Amino acid sequence: MAENLSRRSFIQNLGVGIGTTAAAFAIPSIVSIPESKPKYEGRKLGIALVGLGSYAKNQLAVGLEKTTNCYLAGIVTGTPAKAEEWMKKYNIPKKNVYNYQNFDQIADNKDIDIVYVVLPNSMHPEFVIRAAKAGKHVMCEKPMANSVEECQEMIKACKDAGVQLGVGYRMHFEPFTKEVIRMSQEKVFGDLRFIQSNFGFRIGDPTQWRLKKAMAGGGPLMDVGIYCVQAARYVTGKEPLAVTAQFGPITDQERFKDVEESVSWQFDFPDAVTVNGFTSYKTNIEQLFITADKGFMHLSPAYSYGPIKGRTSQGDLHLPVVHHQANMLEAICKEFLETKQFPPHISGEEGLKDARILSAIYEAAGNGKKIKLV
Ligand code: NDP
Repeated sequence: MAENLSRRSFIQNLGVGIGTTAAAFAIPSIVSIPESKPKYEGRKLGIALVGLGSYAKNQLAVGLEKTTNCYLAGIVTGTPAKAEEWMKKYNIPKKNVYNYQNFDQIADNKDIDIVYVVLPNSMHPEFVIRAAKAGKHVMCEKPMANSVEECQEMIKACKDAGVQLGVGYRMHFEPFTKEVIRMSQEKVFGDLRFIQSNFGFRIGDPTQWRLKKAMAGGGPLMDVGIYCVQAARYVTGKEPLAVTAQFGPITDQERFKDVEESVSWQFDFPDAVTVNGFTSYKTNIEQLFITADKGFMHLSPAYSYGPIKGRTSQGDLHLPVVHHQANMLEAICKEFLETKQFPPHISGEEGLKDARILSAIYEAAGNGKKIKLV
């Protein structure tokens, strides 16, 4: 029964997009990445990764080895030893290697179509804006920036330069997530009532930039709480009306002298849907629970690299397990090659909406008041 439901749902989902619902959040079609690369005869987009840290190395570069319509064409790094290592490993010519000083010369490099900014959060605005001025389309990691104003500047710079701007919202392309979005918006289990969305982990190295407000913009909310905010928005297809929030206790004064250790928040959504969110750098937790009039949907793990696991009140979900970053980049580049645009649901405007909400959560936690969002 459960298998039938999930298979049927999956088949309905394939290539169909948003279907019959009038949801604000358009569901992208699934692009599964097979183990062996199929033959692809079209033009491949060249991507340059900026900042060769953990996410670039362990996820994006690995994903780019699996994609068929884009490839790792260039790198931008402040660490010469990494440049040497990556050139060898990925067969990147020296002319496609930049540092943070000479990065602007990328304007003259025809091999690079998309610059992908994977730097600490505070550096996103500068490098997105410089990439735009160099005439390159830009992907930026989440959170798009540490402030609403910076997001606006980034959007304007990309608009002025006539380039695309996207945020690396990989869950938008993930099959279990997409199925939960579809079931929620098509009211498979009736009207939604309550969403519980939590993402936290126990942070390591106390000296890392994630614990410095000037670089990270905040603590776990900026880093992983943003996934919970995103989930509330993509599941409902609506925007929150108001938020209340509370900072959790600080149990490690040294580590959390600059950013919050944890924060909980409550959104009022249209149609009387309530959302509880929680994020932490001290608690291992990762789930998206949605209860509706006639049943529930539950993803756990819900946001990490997978495999994502899901079940509903009718049983387990059986869907393809994909490499998140390959799956996302393949889908984005497919749409760009066909339309010259990135998918609208990952646009800079979406990053700006999240920045506004994150800022309201901090404000509400700081002053104890309900903050209106519309
Ligand atoms: P890391 O700290 O692992 O890497 C950041 C890299 O940025 C460094 O290795 C370095 O690369 C470069 N860098 C330049 N200046 C600095 C500086 N002053 N301090 C530290 N690093 C600097 O971070 P992550 O890779 O984990 O995160 C990067 C971005 O990706 C963040 O915005 C994060 O939120 C996002 N992210 C997204 C994920 C997702 O699932 N979508 C998952 C993880 C992260 P180099 O030596 O090449 O100059």
